Amino acid sequence: MGAEASEILERLRILRRADAPTHGGRVLSYVYDSGRADLDELAAAAALATQSVNGLDPTTFTSVAVLEREVVGFARTLLGGDNAGDDADSDVVGSVTTGGTESCFLAVKTARDVWIAAGQIGRPRLLAPVTVHAAFQKAAHLFGLDLDLVAVDPATGTLPAAALTSRLGPDVALVVVSAPSYPFAALDPIVEVAAACAASGIACHVDSCIGGWILPFWPDAAGVDVPAWDLRVPGVTSISADLHKYGYAPKGVSVLLQRGRDRQRAQYFATTRWPGYPVVNPTLLGSKSAGALAAAWAIIQRLGTEGFAELAGACARATGRLRATIAAIDGLRVVGDPVGPLIAVAMDETVPAERRVDPHHWADQARAHGWILQQQPGLGQADGSRLPPTTHLTITPVTEEHLDELCAVLQIAADEVRGVPTVTAEQVLAALPLELAAGLAAFDAAPLDSAGAFALLRQLGLIGESDDGRLPDRMAPFLALVEALPHPLTERLLTELLARSVEPR
Ligand SMILES: *Cc1c(COP(=O)(O)O)cnc(C)c1O
Repeated sequence: MGAEASEILERLRILRRADAPTHGGRVLSYVYDSGRADLDELAAAAALATQSVNGLDPTTFTSVAVLEREVVGFARTLLGGDNAGDDADSDVVGSVTTGGTESCFLAVKTARDVWIAAGQIGRPRLLAPVTVHAAFQKAAHLFGLDLDLVAVDPATGTLPAAALTSRLGPDVALVVVSAPSYPFAALDPIVEVAAACAASGIACHVDSCIGGWILPFWPDAAGVDVPAWDLRVPGVTSISADLHKYGYAPKGVSVLLQRGRDRQRAQYFATTRWPGYPVVNPTLLGSKSAGALAAAWAIIQRLGTEGFAELAGACARATGRLRATIAAIDGLRVVGDPVGPLIAVAMDETVPAERRVDPHHWADQARAHGWILQQQPGLGQADGSRLPPTTHLTITPVTEEHLDELCAVLQIAADEVRGVPTVTAEQVLAALPLELAAGLAAFDAAPLDSAGAFALLRQLGLIGESDDGRLPDRMAPFLALVEALPHPLTERLLTELLARSVEPR
C-alpha cells in the first residue's frame, strides 16, 4: 500500500512553499497573475473536467475540436484575421499548441516545408533580428535552417527595417519579427518588413507570443498609437500568441494562426504507413492534455474582449507608472520605447560613474527586498556592437495592487547600489584560482564531459557541497561570468547545472 493521499499532498505543499511565489506580483517574469481568484478557479475546474481526455484525437473526443475551434475563432478576430480575403490563400486558420515554443516551431516547420515544396534547394535560412525569441534558435537547430540574426540598435533595441530587408534572398524560408520582442519590448517594423517579404514571396511570421493577448487592447489602455502589427498587415503569413501569458491560462497553451489553408496544411504531419491507427498531427505532440486548452477556453468566455481590456488597463497603468519611476531614478535608463507591459532597464552611461546604477546589482538588491526581476546578460552582435546588460520587468494586472511598494523598492535598491561598479569579466576571472582561470581562457570548445563540467561548476562555486538546486542570491557575478566566457562553454555548464538538478539523489 502506498502513502496516504493526505501525506502525499502535504509533501507537495511543503515543496511548493520553497518555490518563488506565482501570485502577488513579486516575480516579474514567468508568471502572469490576473489578480482574479475567480479566473484561477474557473481554469482549474475546466482543466479538471477534461483531465482524462486525450487531445490527440478530436474525432473520438469531440469536445476538443469544439474548444479548439472556438479559441482559434476568438484569436482570429482579435488578431485581425477575419475577412482577410475571399480565397483559400487569404483565409486565416489556426491551431492551439502547448505553448509559445511549439507555436514558433510550427511556424518554422510550415515555412520550411512550403519553401521546399516550392522547389527551392540547398539549406533554408531563417532571418530575424537578434532580439527574436530563443525559441527560433531552437527551431532553426531542430528543423535544419541556417540562422541569420540581424543586429539591432544597441541603444534602443530596435530593428532598422533596412538592416533586415537588405538581407532577403531566395534562400530565406522565413522572416520573423516580434510584437513586441521579449528582451527590450521593441515593436519591430512589421509593416515595412512584411511588405518587403510579400514583394519577394517570402513567409513572414509575427511572434506576438507575449503581446498577442494584450496589444490588441493597448492603444486604448495606454493611450498610445501602436502601429499595425497583426494579420491586418499585408504580407504577414503567420502569427503566434500565448494564452499562458496574457490569456492568464495555466501553462501549456498558445495559438498559431496561419494565412492560407494550403500554407497551413504544411504544418500537419500525417501517415497511414504503419500498422497502427492513422496518425494525423497538427502539432508536435501525439497524445496530449486538453486541460490547458479547456482552461484557456473557459477564461476567454468569462473575460470576453471587455474583460481582457480591463486587465490590459491595469497592466498599462502599472507599466506607465513603473516606466516613469525608473526613468526618474538617477543612473538607470529605460531601454528604447517599449510597447506593451514589458520594460528593460540599463545603466545610464550619460551620468558620472559614481551616479551610475548597474542593472544587475540593482536587481540583486531588489531581490533582497523580496522582488524578483529578471537579469539579462549583455550580448555581442553580428555587426561587432554590444547590447548592454539589462534587467527585465514583465508587468501583470496584479502589479497595480502593489505599485507603491514596488516603486519604493526600485528606488531604494538603486540608492543602495548607486556607484557600485559593474562586475567585469576580468574581476570574475581574477577571483578564480589561477589554474582554473587559465583553463577557462584556453577553452576552445573542446567537448567537456559531464564530470569535467561538474568539476568546473564546483570550482566556480555554482554547485555547493550541499546542493539544493538553487542559484546564489547575488546573481551579478554569475551574469558577468556568463558574459565573460565563450558561449559554447556557458551553454555546456548551464546544461550540466540543470541536468544535475533532476538526477535522482
Ligand atoms: C514567451 C515567448 C515565446 C515562447 O515561449 P514559451 O515559454 O514556450 O511560451 C516566444 N516568443 C516570445 C516573444 C515570448 O515572449
